[in-house]
Amino acid sequence: MKALVYHGPGIRSYDEKPMPVLKDSTDAIVCVTKTTICGTDLHIMKGDVSTVTDGRILGHEGVGIIEQIGGNVSNFQIGDHVLISCISSCGRCTNCKKGMYSHCENGGGWILGNLIDGTQAEYVRIPFADNSLHAIPAEADEESLVMLSDILPTGFECGVLNGQIKPGDTVAVIGAGPIGLAVLLTAQFYSPAAIIMVDNDSNRLDVARRFGATQVIHNDLGNAAEKIMALTNNRGVDVAVEAIGIPSSFDICQEIVTAGGHIANVGVHGKPVQLNLDKLWSQNITLKTGLVDTVTTPMLLKTVISGKLQPEQLITHHFTMDEVMQAYDTFGDAMKEEALKVIISNKIMSDRVKSDPTALGRTILEQEAFKEEFLVNDSPGG
Ligand SMILES: [Zn+2]
Ligand SMILES: [Zn+2]
Repeated sequence: MKALVYHGPGIRSYDEKPMPVLKDSTDAIVCVTKTTICGTDLHIMKGDVSTVTDGRILGHEGVGIIEQIGGNVSNFQIGDHVLISCISSCGRCTNCKKGMYSHCENGGGWILGNLIDGTQAEYVRIPFADNSLHAIPAEADEESLVMLSDILPTGFECGVLNGQIKPGDTVAVIGAGPIGLAVLLTAQFYSPAAIIMVDNDSNRLDVARRFGATQVIHNDLGNAAEKIMALTNNRGVDVAVEAIGIPSSFDICQEIVTAGGHIANVGVHGKPVQLNLDKLWSQNITLKTGLVDTVTTPMLLKTVISGKLQPEQLITHHFTMDEVMQAYDTFGDAMKEEALKVIISNKIMSDRVKSDPTALGRTILEQEAFKEEFLVNDSPGG
């Protein structure tokens, strides 16, 4: 099969890799129909994530169709259409029982495209399939659901819930990338009075306005904190969400949080930041950090199916799996390309499913034969 492979900082290629095989009885093999690239993948490409080693297939988001299941998978069957969670979890350990799936003690957590091969491939092995996959209802739009693997639950759990956003609150989100925009979209469940979005990219701020931001602040001069204090009559904000992962954006949060307010950190930080306790010690604030647990994914799935949440608005570009290298170039130059989320389709397989729904549940060998037949009939080169 083909896959996007990391070969050390700055080096990636679209390689032929062996098909994944079931390793544990709780595994499933999923044919990926659609996947995407995350800001985290760009961090990996820069060499920021030391756990990712040469030869790793990247990607932790996607939807697909189950091709094989281990003997102890009970919630799913071959042929089921599933959403892949960016967090794999056993569902049985102490942390999983607390709903802290990101800290699964049995080898789960964020492992896809990190410690094990990920979803930017034609097929992926999903450990703990019962707890790490979600069934997709028949009427659902696949592309919207790709946004549910990571960015929507991350924005909602790490930004909105950790920030304790309430009706009437004034909220500021520092960073209007896909994650910051996911915070903006899901914050509106709670009807805050104001949501101020801060970024250096005018296009992203225009998008933020369309998505419901009440004010946007261009931080080209680095004075976003002053502007927010002016906007709020020097009161500051009830909730400050850090959605970039750099010291200067965390500093904005510290400067603008009002007495009794909350700072929710969503960004992935590679450097230490200074916590200004000399100013904040008496201010009754809370600071929350954390990796997404994806416990809210089933709830978010319902809001997407009902149309309450429309995450497909975040999709700006489409590529096929064999254009994944180009997809990285586009996503890596997001400001110039005006890119938010890119969708990468495994064209052969999704066409197969479209043209022959009974193909679901075929054996791998039968599917390979089908794929070959499809390739011969469909590829422009003949
Ligand atoms: Zn991600
Ligand atoms: Zn666990």
